[in-house]
Amino acid sequence: MTTSHVWVISGPSAVGKGTVCARLKELHPELFYSVSMTTREPRPGEIDGVSYRFVGVEEFKSLIEEGEFLEWAVVHGTDFYGTPRRPVLEALEAGKQVILEIDLQGARQVKQNLPEAKLVFLTPPSWDELVHRLQGRGTEDPAAQERRLATAKVELDAIAEADHIIENRDLEVTVATLVSLLGL
Ligand code: 5GP
Repeated sequence: MTTSHVWVISGPSAVGKGTVCARLKELHPELFYSVSMTTREPRPGEIDGVSYRFVGVEEFKSLIEEGEFLEWAVVHGTDFYGTPRRPVLEALEAGKQVILEIDLQGARQVKQNLPEAKLVFLTPPSWDELVHRLQGRGTEDPAAQERRLATAKVELDAIAEADHIIENRDLEVTVATLVSLLGL
C-alpha cells in the first residue's frame, strides 16, 4: 500500500507521458486523471474537456487571479497550461488517487502546495531516441521541435528532484512499474 495520493507524472516532451497515462487509465479508470486547461490550439482529434479544456488567454489569466489553479505554467515559451484546483481537491476528499501529467515547473509548484505529492519522472532510453520520437510524431514544426528539445535538456538536468525515475523503454513495463508504485 502507498500513503501518497497525488502522483505527478513528468518528463520531457515526447518521452511518452501521454501514452503511459492513457494506458494507465485503461487499466485503472478508478483513479482521478486531472484534465488540464490550456490556451494552445486543439490538435486534430483532441476533444475539449477530454484531452484538455481549451480556453482563451484572457479567461486563463482571470482564473489565475481567482486562485483557481493548483499550479500553472507557460510551457515551451508559448502557451499557458494549468491544473484546476477544485476537481483535484474533491477527488482527494473522495479518497481517490490523483494523476497529474504536467511539466517540471508545474510539478515543483504541486510539491510546494501539496508536499505529500510524489514526482515520477519518465526518461527516454537515450537522447537520440527522444529526438527520434519527437520528430516521428510529427505534431510540431521544426522550430517548435527545437524549443521542446531545449526544454527537454533543462528537464532532464532536474532529474534529481524526482521521487521516482522510470525509463520509458517499453510501454507495458513502464505502466506495470507505475501500477506497482501506486500500490494498485
Ligand atoms: P502538449 O501541448 O504536448 O499537450 O503538452 C505540452 C507540455 O505541457 C507537456 O510537457 C505536458 O506535460 C505539459 N502540461 C500539460 N498540462 C499541464 C498542466 O496542467 N500544467 C503544467 N504545468 N504543464 C502541463
